[in-house]
Amino acid sequence: MAPDKDDKKSKKVYSKKITYLRRLIVGSVAASCLIPLCICIILAIRYDRLRSEYEQSRADLEWYRNRFGTEREILGSDGTEVAETEQTKQIDSQPQIDEPGAEENIQYDIDGSEVATDVDEDADDTANVENIEGTRYVYLTFDDGPSSSTDDILDVLKEYDVKATFFVCGKPDSRYTDLYKRIVDEGHTLGMHSYSHKYNVIYESTESFKDDLDKLRRFLNETTGTWSKYYRFPGGSSNTVSKADMKELVQCLNDEGITFFDWNVAGGDATGGATKATIYNNVVNNVPRFKHSIVLLHDSADKMSTVEALPEIIEAIQAMDDTVIVPITDDTLPVQHIKY
Ligand code: ZN
Repeated sequence: MAPDKDDKKSKKVYSKKITYLRRLIVGSVAASCLIPLCICIILAIRYDRLRSEYEQSRADLEWYRNRFGTEREILGSDGTEVAETEQTKQIDSQPQIDEPGAEENIQYDIDGSEVATDVDEDADDTANVENIEGTRYVYLTFDDGPSSSTDDILDVLKEYDVKATFFVCGKPDSRYTDLYKRIVDEGHTLGMHSYSHKYNVIYESTESFKDDLDKLRRFLNETTGTWSKYYRFPGGSSNTVSKADMKELVQCLNDEGITFFDWNVAGGDATGGATKATIYNNVVNNVPRFKHSIVLLHDSADKMSTVEALPEIIEAIQAMDDTVIVPITDDTLPVQHIKY
């Protein structure tokens, strides 16, 4: 009986080996199918996300092109927005800044264009630094959003626990709804920058300006539940393209209890070509000149340099003695280029 027993034992071992091999083959086949399938799913999700981001960026850029033509042709190189290509020559009129010392660093040619820019890139030039006592207040303001850059800027502000001010336009597309809400929910100030940002429409007449203002106010209220009380004129209050009397437009704002804000420090990011270093220097070198610095920056779709420069700008400002970064509130002393 011993040979039978051995035979049974060897059959059992053989059967176990067959089972093991079968499982190995099935497992290998399953793995060779599942692993590529998982990779495909992951890649498909990533592709979908990237495509969505790309579509949003493209839509953002399209929005600006519809309003400005190409950024380089339309926006001033000194950080000031201008209206139409034909009108870019001397759109930036002389700012009337309340604070002493502000005008000393600016010289203008006879046509109103700057000879020596108010954006001082020489870090060692302290000759025009205002003698400031007490706390210095810095207001970071972002125009033209929301866009695909706004989330990134909000992330940076959150990381540094800094509140800023966003002068937004009207974008009814649902992709932007959460951005308007996020600005408000995270404690930033929601300002207005016209609904359409089309100079030839909003500055056509006082009535058309009022219509645009009313449309934006209602849109922001429906979107965020708040009424904005702050306004920044596209191109600033000193723009020279408005067919309407700017003082009448200011009166429209006053009638609604709205305060307008220009700026005394420009990041110089209105044009697409500004580098991270340029924006950083424009802001950090000029903020010390003022007790109240209202800093003009942009969060439109093509302003990646602004996003990249922002952390270092915040760190540099926070390192300045007795200096705080705060959002615009009812207590903020406005910087206004035109006197009213
Ligand atoms: Zn603008």
